[in-house]
Parts: sequence; C-alpha cells; structure tokens
Amino acid sequence: MSKVADYLQQHLLGEILTSSDVRDYFSRDCSLLSVRPAMVIYPRNENDIRKILRFTWQLAQKKHFITITTRGAGTDQTGAAIGSGIVLVLTAHLNRILELNSRTGSVIIEPGIMFGKLDETLHTHGRFIPAIPSSSEYSTVGGAVANNASGSKITKYGDFNQYIKELRVILSNGDVINTRRLSKKDLNRKLGLVTYEGEIYRSIDVLIEDNQDFINRNRLKIKNNFGYNLAAVKDKDGSFDLTPLLIGSQGTLGVISEITMNTEMFNPETFLMVASCDNTINLQNIVDEVRALSAQPSSMEMINQDLLEDAAKINPNSLKTVASKPFSKFYIFIEYDLMSDRNNKKYIKKVKKILEKYGHDIKIASEVEDKEKLWKLRDISSYMLTHNNGLNRSVPIIGEGAVPYKNVGRLIDGLYDLAKKTNIEPILWGHVGEGIIHLRPRLNIAQVGDRQKVFRLLEEYNNLIKSLDGTISSEGNDGRLKAPYLDQNLPPELYQIYKKVKQIFDPYNLLNQGVKFGTSVDDLKNIMRHDYKLEHSYNHLPRN
Ligand SMILES: Cc1cc2nc3c(=O)[nH]c(=O)nc-3n(C[C@H](O)[C@H](O)[C@H](O)COP(=O)(O)OP(=O)(O)OC[C@H]3O[C@@H](n4cnc5c(N)ncnc54)[C@H](O)[C@@H]3O)c2cc1C
Repeated sequence: MSKVADYLQQHLLGEILTSSDVRDYFSRDCSLLSVRPAMVIYPRNENDIRKILRFTWQLAQKKHFITITTRGAGTDQTGAAIGSGIVLVLTAHLNRILELNSRTGSVIIEPGIMFGKLDETLHTHGRFIPAIPSSSEYSTVGGAVANNASGSKITKYGDFNQYIKELRVILSNGDVINTRRLSKKDLNRKLGLVTYEGEIYRSIDVLIEDNQDFINRNRLKIKNNFGYNLAAVKDKDGSFDLTPLLIGSQGTLGVISEITMNTEMFNPETFLMVASCDNTINLQNIVDEVRALSAQPSSMEMINQDLLEDAAKINPNSLKTVASKPFSKFYIFIEYDLMSDRNNKKYIKKVKKILEKYGHDIKIASEVEDKEKLWKLRDISSYMLTHNNGLNRSVPIIGEGAVPYKNVGRLIDGLYDLAKKTNIEPILWGHVGEGIIHLRPRLNIAQVGDRQKVFRLLEEYNNLIKSLDGTISSEGNDGRLKAPYLDQNLPPELYQIYKKVKQIFDPYNLLNQGVKFGTSVDDLKNIMRHDYKLEHSYNHLPRN
C-alpha cells in the first residue's frame, strides 16, 4: 500500500483498497474509456469524505496533486466515473433513505442508494421520481443528480432540476455546505461569510452579475447538460441557489453527501396509444400537434423499422406477440397519466384525431396487460443494446443529444444520412417528444478502422446537432468523451465563464479532473478501451 493510502487508512473509518483487481474494476465505467485509479476508498460516512478532501487540498497547497473521482454505480457513458487518483465509491456505505415524508412526498437520502431501491420504497407510498433513467435498477440517485439524468417521462416531468430541493455538498477543501434557494436577505448573510463557502457565493454572484444578459441569451430551451446550469442560479426576485450548478456537474464541483428531493404522486391509471407512421414529415406533424395541446403526455417515444428488422434477425420470436412484418417506418408511443380518467379520455380522443391524420394502425390500451404488450415493442431497444454481433458491440458515442422538438424530424433524417455516410446501421429510438433520438453504432473497437470511426461519428454528430440548434449533452452529460467538443459548441465567452465556475469551486483542479474540461481528442485516443461490454446491465436490462 502506498504511503498516502497508509496514512489515510489511519484516519478513516472506511476501507481503502489498492489491489490490482479492484483498481482494474474501477478503471472502467460504462463508457468506451478507461483510466486506472491509484486507490479506491469506500467512505463510511460524510466525515471520511471531508477528511480525504481536506487532505488532498492540503497536499495540493504543497504542489502535490491527487485527484478525486466520486463514483456511484459507474454506469456513466461519458467516462466521468473514472479517474487516476482516488476513486470514492459511495455505494458501499452511503446508501440509506434518511427520511421519507409520505404526506409531502419529500425524501432525504444518501447519494449511494440505488435508484431502483428508492423507487420501490416510494411506490409503496404511492409516489415516484419521474426523472428516472433507464439504467435505474443498477445506478445510484447520487449519480443521477450529478449527471442530471432523465428518462422517458421527460416531456411532462423534466429532469432532476425539477426535483432537488437541497443538497449537502463537500467542497474541494473539505468544508461542507447546504445548498437551497435563498432569499436576498439569506444570500447577503452568505456573502458576508469569511469561509470558503462565502468566497464561492461572492465569486459566483459576481460572475453572474457581470454576465447575466449573456448567460440568459445563450440559455437553450431544451434539456441541456453542457457545462453548468448558471442561468438557473439567480432569479429575477434576487433569490439565489447554488443547487442547479451542482446538478449535472458530474462531480467536478464537489461531492454530494445528502440529497433532499420532491417526488410525484404515482398514477398507474395511464392510457397508452401506439401508431405507425410512414415518414418524418408525418412524425414531425404528430409531435408538433400533440405538444401544442394544453396537457403534455407523460411519455412520447418512438422506434424505427431498422430496430425491428434487427430484432427480427436476432430473435424473431421476441416480436411475435407485438409486431409483424412488414414493419412500419416509425412507431410512436404516446402515454397520458392525468389524474382524472375523464381528462385522460379527453386527451386520448384529441390525440387519436391527430394520429388518424398522420398515422395508421392506431392501438389504444388502458389495461395493464395490453399496455405491457405495447411497451414491450418500445423496450426492444433495451436488449438490442446488450446484444453482441461477434466482436461488434453497441457503443455509447453519440445519440445522447437533443434538438428543439420542432426539429426532431430533421434530426432523424440527419441521423439516417450520418449512418449511411459512416456505414453504420440506422437503428433509432428515443424520446421523440423532447427531440432526443438515440443511435448506438455497433463497432468492434479493437479494430483500427472502427476506432477511427469513433471520432468521425463524434464530429459528424456534433455538426448535425449544431446545425439544428441542439446540444450533444442532453440525456447524457459531457464527461471526458464530449469535453473536446465543448468549446466548439459554445460561444467562447460562455466556455470561459463555465471554466471560471470550475476554478471557483475547485482551484487546484482535483475533482474529476478531465471531466467537462481538459480532455483533448488525443487524450481520448490514449484512454480508449480495446473492448467494450455492458456487463453491468446483464442482471437488469435497461427499461426504455
Ligand atoms: C444502458 C444504460 C442506459 C442508460 N440510460 C440512461 C437514461 O435513460 N437517462 C440518463 O440520464 N442516463 C442514462 N444512463 C447513464 C447513467 O446510467 C445515468 O446517468 C445514471 O444516473 C448514473 O448513475 P451512477 O450511479 O451509475 O453514476 P456514476 O456513473 O457512478 O457517476 C456519474 C457521474 O456522477 C458523479 N457522481 C456520482 N455520485 C456523485 C456524488 N455523490 N457527488 C458528486 N458527483 C457524483 C460521478 O463522478 C460521475 O461524474 C444510462 C447508462 C447505461 C449504461
């Protein structure tokens, strides 16, 4: 064990491991990238994390730099849950529900709790967190907050920004702060603090004051995880909240040690409609007209013909009860979960009219079994992800971006062109109502040609999304994978502002170094794996 590990073990309650097997395991997340840590620590409590961060801060002051990577379950697909120094694994100990108020639906949890476990508990109280990622069974809530995760219910319910009330965060120097929305008066109190917390409040306040108009002008009106969510910090009424900066920050600004969040009432009485559609013009018309209705659907999903053709080739019987050949070009899934049955029926009637205009083969389901059958069709994408074709695997490089929903038809056309140009299969699915369409190329990344293709795909996808006023980091985050493309996508001043946020919170660049900033295309080439497997998910297939 190294001197540092030896020293830390004397002061921590948690365990420190430096054995090669453990370091190998934690050198990977669910991305294409790999970085081997020097040691892995399972902090037993918040105080352990504070001690570690205080120690690395003090070393940094003496110009000895050890980086810290916080890790939940490591399902990140952008290379943000790996790092060369210390990896803090929160799933082992910091995984409890601390408080659940079944009247208000507010819940206080530790970050390492599995999302699926929390969801199960919430369901027994008739509640849920709609911003649930499809990886929820094997990923943590802390990871979801730090990634600003979202899922198929985004059209109505949004992402994690809508649900977090308060965070408890350990700063890069080991101090702990609680973030929540503060009144002007409370903010003034914070601005007067002589601590590092006070310094952060002062610096962020000045940064916003100096650039408020510019930040607001450049705010995208779609789900966007690029950089930091500075636009949501200061409200017109002068209230101020650091929480939005931490949500989606991928562990680059602090370690979240406690989360207080709101939940929603769960309504199982949903209505689901599925229709076929023959081209992107009709698909776009359906999206536009349904989104223009006053009540938003709880889900608005789509899959394409190529996905079903592929499933039919691999496992034809999987489609037997849900779809038959010839497959339509697109299938659209629209779900309503309004609290009144009358309202659900009202909207189903309206949507049916729209679907009759632009689609065909409309199916409507309200019984559990019928809905499950229809959702099974949508969920075909899940097991496609885990299927390997020889040495070819579906790799997460592109397809986590978003465009304004008004451009989703053009995004789909663009993805078909991109697939043709780069010789990949145009297997598409996603949250069409939110302008998020997934595409996971099947590549053999042990081969030079396919390794080079990764960068061609990133470039082409980046250009496509940019041309449609979108963001390449929407359902996914920036991580290391998209860090080289951040400055190309943002106005230079905004990129510098985001870098300043990072400097304010982490002046020695210790927290998740290389994530969001500081990774070049050449760095990516050096840390790209030579194989890729989704073994994390084999126990639980992702759900839509
Ligand atoms: C098959 C598959 C499907 C997926 N589907 C979705 C989806 O539908 N929607 C979606 O949004 N994402 C999805 N993801 C990505 C990922 O699973 C989610 O973002 C998930 O919420 C990450 O949780 P985790 O516990 O695995 O976090 P990790 O991968 O361990 O960490 C994610 C990031 O959060 C940081 N972090 C973790 N805990 C903390 C903490 N306590 N404090 C500070 N930083 C922290 C890490 O440093 C890292 O940067 C998918 C991934 C896979 C493999």
